[in-house]
Amino acid sequence: MNSPVCVFVGEELARYGFGHGHPFGSDRMQAFWDEALRRGLDKRVRICAPALATQQQIELFHGHDYVERVKFQSQTGEGFLDYGDTPAFPGVYQAAAYVVGTSLAALERVLSGECRRAFVPIAGLHHARRDAAAGFCVFNDCGVVIESLRAVHGVRRVAYVDIDAHHGDGVFYGFEDDPELFCADLHEDGRYLYPGSGAAHERGRGAAAGSKLNIPMRPGADDRDFRAAWPRVESFLRAARPEFIILQCGADSLTGDPITHLQYSAESHRYATTRLCAIAEQYCNGRLLALGGGGYNRANLAAAWTAVLEALLD
Ligand SMILES: [Zn+2]
Repeated sequence: MNSPVCVFVGEELARYGFGHGHPFGSDRMQAFWDEALRRGLDKRVRICAPALATQQQIELFHGHDYVERVKFQSQTGEGFLDYGDTPAFPGVYQAAAYVVGTSLAALERVLSGECRRAFVPIAGLHHARRDAAAGFCVFNDCGVVIESLRAVHGVRRVAYVDIDAHHGDGVFYGFEDDPELFCADLHEDGRYLYPGSGAAHERGRGAAAGSKLNIPMRPGADDRDFRAAWPRVESFLRAARPEFIILQCGADSLTGDPITHLQYSAESHRYATTRLCAIAEQYCNGRLLALGGGGYNRANLAAAWTAVLEALLD
């Protein structure tokens, strides 16, 4: 089917989830896809299968020793991969490698012109650091996609826009001194929410000063607050003139998420996506990749991500 939008769904992606009542459960992908089917979106998009990343691809962003450690703990399935948020489970290496591989496959489809925009629901694992897991994130597919844009595809000026309730610290600090990674991140103020970073004065280091925009939102901030803050993102992006846009559209910024305190509706996600598509048309030949990110209330992630998908299709 000829659609401008590719969506990646499949059992291999759903495997990325932690059991025993962990908020990042493996039922999240299906919660999204059920709602997409209910809205008939499956008939309007091109459905694509997940792909597995090679270790070499994962190491475009991550350190070799860290990747080897995940491999080892994937066999035992024991302990935590970080300080206690991200438990290991048997097969966690492969599950995380599928997330990375699928984001890379989505990138390929967009760059090859097979589609104009793409969405991967179980992706956008923005907390993982180059040498560590963090906050439910084992491998940072956003970071790997950015490194791949540079190393493999020669695309230098990349915009990363993050509307997840949490600050995208793995991406922010991973590229803090990179003047061509333009990072705009609206998140709940770090004084009230994990990971605690992303203050407004953090604008990038050295030659990269000014290439990052952090907008901390007060707990309880709603769609009106989001709309009021958004024009700063647009002026920042227009000044940056990126060649490619990545959107991390975490759904944990909606009212009723069990672990955060923002109060957007899915309309903020729809609005941000629509506006970013327009900027992508203007500067990036339309090229935009949306990654699902967080979201622990199943109805919320279904509403937010299908709103994103509808906006990508319009
Ligand atoms: Zn989050």
